[in-house]
Amino acid sequence: MTSQLDKAARDLASAMAGLDLKGRIAHIEAAVPGRLVFTTSLGIEDQALTHAVAMHKGRTEIVTLDTGRLYPEAYDTWTETESAYGIRIRAYAPEREAEERFVAESGINGFRHSVAARQACCGFRKVEPLGRALAGAAGWLTGLRAGQSANRADTPLAEADPARGLIKINPLADWSRADVERFVLENYVPYNVLHDRGFPSIGCAPCTRAIRVGEDERAGRWWWEQASKKECGLHVQTSDLHAPDETVAPGQEAAAFETTRHANTLEMAR
Ligand code: SF4
Repeated sequence: MTSQLDKAARDLASAMAGLDLKGRIAHIEAAVPGRLVFTTSLGIEDQALTHAVAMHKGRTEIVTLDTGRLYPEAYDTWTETESAYGIRIRAYAPEREAEERFVAESGINGFRHSVAARQACCGFRKVEPLGRALAGAAGWLTGLRAGQSANRADTPLAEADPARGLIKINPLADWSRADVERFVLENYVPYNVLHDRGFPSIGCAPCTRAIRVGEDERAGRWWWEQASKKECGLHVQTSDLHAPDETVAPGQEAAAFETTRHANTLEMAR
């Protein structure tokens, strides 16, 4: 089964390499039988992909994970996108009981207490709903790019995801940030205004800040943590989820957060 998935992913990646984005979407829909799901975070890469999927008018489902902690600007982008393309983006929300339990035990922003708490929050707000969104899917489309961070440098156009039993497809894997911005501007694609305010990558509001000159694109995500831990669990191997971080002392992240927040406030006041 795994070798079949591997081969199918390799064949797909090879075929996609010579195509433009429109051709890639058409080829994916022709080559991958079964349910196709595109999970959008409403960030600029995903907006480019939403444009291509919506314009193709095929069978790829567009869904998003509504964590309940997004920036208001993300909801504006969501609304504007549905209106621009005449589509509905299906939302998957956290299970109510899991959210209530976490907030009762850890506090509303308890994800800052430790890496494990942060991973637990991402777990019930993102990873569990993602599992429901991808149930029964044969292909999972994402807006990942190799250039987004060191963690994503090896992102291929398509790869087997044996844990989920599907092919993970990254049609923008070989695009640069400039390619994405050019595509969005040339095609009048709606995008989140925070991208014009120093946010190359936009996640939940309490866990995303603008970046400084010279920082990598995902430096503003969970900025109080080590760079190697900056994934929410959606795009890491299942075995890496909830792994305790033994190099960070309890309470250290909260102190680092307070220091950085103070620095940012001063920067904004200048
Ligand atoms: S990004 Fe922050 S608020 Fe959002 S799910 Fe992860 S820890 Fe929770």
